[in-house]
Amino acid sequence: MTSAPMSPLALLDTDSLIGDDDRAMRDTVRKFVDDRLRPEIAAWYDEGSVPVRDLALEFGSLGLLGMHLEGYGCAGTSATAYGLACLELEAGDSGLRSIVSVQGSLAMYAIHRHGSDEQKDEWLPRMATGEAIGCFGLTEPDFGSDPGGMRARARQDPAPGGTGDWVLTGNKMWITNGSVADVAVVWARAEEGIRGFVVPTDTPGFSATEIKRKMSLRASVTAELALDEVRLPTTAMLPEARGLSGPLSCLTEARFGIIFGALGAARDCLETTIAYVREREIFGKRLAAYQLTQAKLADMSVELGKGMLLALHLGRLKDEGRLEAAAISVGKLNNTREAIAIARECRTLLGAAGITLEYPLMRHANNLESVLTYEGTAEVHQLVIGQALTGEAAFR
Ligand SMILES: Cc1cc2nc3c(=O)[nH]c(=O)nc-3n(C[C@H](O)[C@H](O)[C@H](O)COP(=O)(O)OP(=O)(O)OC[C@H]3O[C@@H](n4cnc5c(N)ncnc54)[C@H](O)[C@@H]3O)c2cc1C
Repeated sequence: MTSAPMSPLALLDTDSLIGDDDRAMRDTVRKFVDDRLRPEIAAWYDEGSVPVRDLALEFGSLGLLGMHLEGYGCAGTSATAYGLACLELEAGDSGLRSIVSVQGSLAMYAIHRHGSDEQKDEWLPRMATGEAIGCFGLTEPDFGSDPGGMRARARQDPAPGGTGDWVLTGNKMWITNGSVADVAVVWARAEEGIRGFVVPTDTPGFSATEIKRKMSLRASVTAELALDEVRLPTTAMLPEARGLSGPLSCLTEARFGIIFGALGAARDCLETTIAYVREREIFGKRLAAYQLTQAKLADMSVELGKGMLLALHLGRLKDEGRLEAAAISVGKLNNTREAIAIARECRTLLGAAGITLEYPLMRHANNLESVLTYEGTAEVHQLVIGQALTGEAAFR
């Protein structure tokens, strides 16, 4: 007996948990992804190049850049709406979602939360429209999971006598949009501890080199930044960020978007796979009609539905101002881990066809390797949760 198939997220009717405004925004982003991005994404991924500047303007005109921030031309949506936008973008590609995450949750958020009025006025309106692109330089070649060990240094020409200028020296690694950015938020160790700096990328001494030959996030620009005696005015420092909590507050924002985003990649894999197995005939009958296939589809849909419930719950907590860092770690750990498992399992159901760019499975699976690693690796989130559970920090 056959009946009309149901989409995996319809199983739990998670849409009924989303308000009308958020759903309308979500549908707009989904349509943009389907009409504008989906036809191009395999080629961008294949070529390892993506028109970040054009896309930033388009994302800006949709109101997606810094969309959960207030003022300065930002849309001021709910956190849940921002999460849903991330989900739809990542159903296209994790690299496309990364453009929006880095711009809104890392670079813009850093300036919005920790910046001076002058810094906000100068950068945020242009970043919201996509005219100015930002990047966020925290990771270094030798310090990823342990950013507190950073070697980048900020020293100040002492006033009186000196100019009071800041001088930055160091290297930042794996920086999304680093070589296309107009402005970099760079974290460096000053005498008083870790501080953030707003660095226009045309400042003498600043250079960025794109990292090529990636097998993951190929539709995203990743770069190494070199700061060689970059001289900045005293006003370049983010006045409100002191110590490691400054950059960590930005990572918390970006991690939240990933909790939703990873589910987009997983949903796209599952929907593609269900459509495929309903067509593909093996041993004289459709692949969808085998129990082994259905067991896989059922298990994956259960995980996708659970991940969505978790994301919506965390979104609600964030909208109420009650979301704790350990809960974000629960969401980031679970949803990235399950998404990559779903992408890989879906690939098995497409057999050889699953390894090509004709289908999105391997692309999503490879992208999710980065998503599992950046914004805190899976292991780092286990340690955050472990500390919350035991009171013991086991990071070192
Ligand atoms: C595509 C991409 C884009 C990125 N974009 C940015 C960006 O825009 N800005 C930015 O600042 N950074 C960015 N990153 C960097 C990212 O945040 C780091 O890669 C991440 O923090 C991990 O650091 P690492 O790669 O140095 O790995 P490492 O820290 O060297 O970790 C290696 C392994 O050790 C494990 N490990 C670490 N600590 C412990 C511990 N205490 N106990 C047990 N195991 C441990 C890790 O989980 C991992 O498995 C990006 C990375 C990628 C891949």
